[in-house]
Amino acid sequence: MSTTVQQVLKSKGGVTHAVTPTATVMQALELMASQDIGAVLVKEGERLVGIFTERDYARKVAIKGLSSRDATVGDLMTPNVCTITPSHTIDDVMSIMTQNRFRHLPVVDHGKLSGIVTIGDVVKAVIAEHEATIQQLSSYIAGDIAT
Ligand code: AMP
Repeated sequence: MSTTVQQVLKSKGGVTHAVTPTATVMQALELMASQDIGAVLVKEGERLVGIFTERDYARKVAIKGLSSRDATVGDLMTPNVCTITPSHTIDDVMSIMTQNRFRHLPVVDHGKLSGIVTIGDVVKAVIAEHEATIQQLSSYIAGDIAT
């Protein structure tokens, strides 16, 4: 998959949603629900200090019976966030996500957060590339038969 992260961000945009470490889990869940997303970034000012996803909620809050209104995102987030750059390809993204067993990758361009790529974006990019290949082959076959 030679599509780049830059191309993906060009079509989906570079909007990211973030909370501070002091936000409660409930506030993070409300943001995820209102934006229809599965993860929020955790920022202190402009600094990316963590990521909190639905999986963190399921495994670190729900299963342990913690209160979403009392628990803070800072205590439950994953602090060492793996990021990618716009020049990475979808192949790179697939391999990073598979190796690390996560579905969200923030994009950092020259030190600045410029978007996030999710497993859903990867699936869309793969389908688009397959469709383009099928289109090319169909045109080739149609041309071949016509001549
Ligand atoms: P996910 O599959 O994205 O819901 O995430 C699964 C686990 O990996 C959760 O504990 C997340 O906090 C963590 N995680 C998700 N994305 C990243 C990332 N880019 N870097 C580090 N950890 C992550």
